[in-house]
Amino acid sequence: MQYFSTADHAFVREMNLSTVLRMIHTEAPLSRAQLAVKTGLNKSTVSSLVEELLDRKLIHETGINSTGTGRPAMLLEINPQAGVIIGVELGVDFIAVALSDFIGKFLWRKNVPADPAASQENTLSQVLELIQDAVLFCNDKGYRIFGLSFAVPGTVDLNDGLLIFAPNLNWHNIPVRRIFSERTGLKVFIENDANAAAMAEHLFGAAQNLKDFIFVFAGVGLGGGLFLNGQLYRGKGGYAGEIGHTSIMAEPFQLPCHCGNLGCWERYSNQESILRRMRSHSEDTQDGPLSLLAVKQAADNGDRNAIVSIEEAGTAMGIGLAGLVNIFNPEKIIIGGPLSITGEYLLPSIQHGMEKYAMAEIAVQTEITLSEFGPDASLLGAAAIVVDEILASPAHIERRW
Ligand SMILES: [Zn+2]
Repeated sequence: MQYFSTADHAFVREMNLSTVLRMIHTEAPLSRAQLAVKTGLNKSTVSSLVEELLDRKLIHETGINSTGTGRPAMLLEINPQAGVIIGVELGVDFIAVALSDFIGKFLWRKNVPADPAASQENTLSQVLELIQDAVLFCNDKGYRIFGLSFAVPGTVDLNDGLLIFAPNLNWHNIPVRRIFSERTGLKVFIENDANAAAMAEHLFGAAQNLKDFIFVFAGVGLGGGLFLNGQLYRGKGGYAGEIGHTSIMAEPFQLPCHCGNLGCWERYSNQESILRRMRSHSEDTQDGPLSLLAVKQAADNGDRNAIVSIEEAGTAMGIGLAGLVNIFNPEKIIIGGPLSITGEYLLPSIQHGMEKYAMAEIAVQTEITLSEFGPDASLLGAAAIVVDEILASPAHIERRW
């Protein structure tokens, strides 16, 4: 009697292929024998799966392991040159496009300022031009392009590839996947910026072996990537993690937010809150635009108003995080995005605010750190989303290219 159909066998093989590739990603360099022990698969199955991954150029042989007692064995690791990902971070006031390899190293990048008041058409055609530059670079170098991936400051519909709502851009229902797959012919991915950054931390950064952590994207807005029980937590509609739009302030001090609500957390700990505090603390009301970088430089020069402005935003950040700490008991909270340039002033006050307002027993279990990727966490995250997809379904990658 046959219990398994051919389709079942193909499915099991795809799952095993993914298991072996993920194991190599996490623990390389590994030999075939070590892979067999770690995955529980038999040696001949592992050898056949490894051949398939080598054939798709997703892994390569990296040298001989001559230490230990066993026979010397060829070691395997992820092939950084397997292919490249074009990542796009659609900030509110900037656009960044970067090309990264299969292990998350940037090979090429461009950042340009964007006008939040510009029309959607203008901004999207600005994005398209940068993507075309990246594609030209890839063609010139002969890179295989795995995909084009967007990290966006809002809620997304992963199935249809839509940007549903970006409060700080006031954009609604943009069919990002359709627009850019039509214009580039590439496979297009889209993800919320904080979720994307959480994936970057999971695959390449400070959270590689953590099951429960929260990434906080702090910039024009405040977004959260909830990584719980070993995976990105998306909620029913995929919108989970909109931490910045929870109200932390009761009347009569509620500031209005772009999302339409009052007293939202991000209004007290985002980029604008630092600039607003800086203006109100300074006696000479200088004209002209004030930037986060200027406040950071003033702080470096010992300007008390600048330091206090950053610290107040940090305390407000900590108050909000205290709620998340109590609810999720994360092992780590990683802060990234544009505000991380002020990290040395921000982090101690975040820590202080969190410890003051979270339950003490839970707070001691949570480490708060800055992202190693700083302002680039979401840009790298765009690439990480595609890498994760390939680790999950390596069988979809062509053998020849
Ligand atoms: Zn809001």
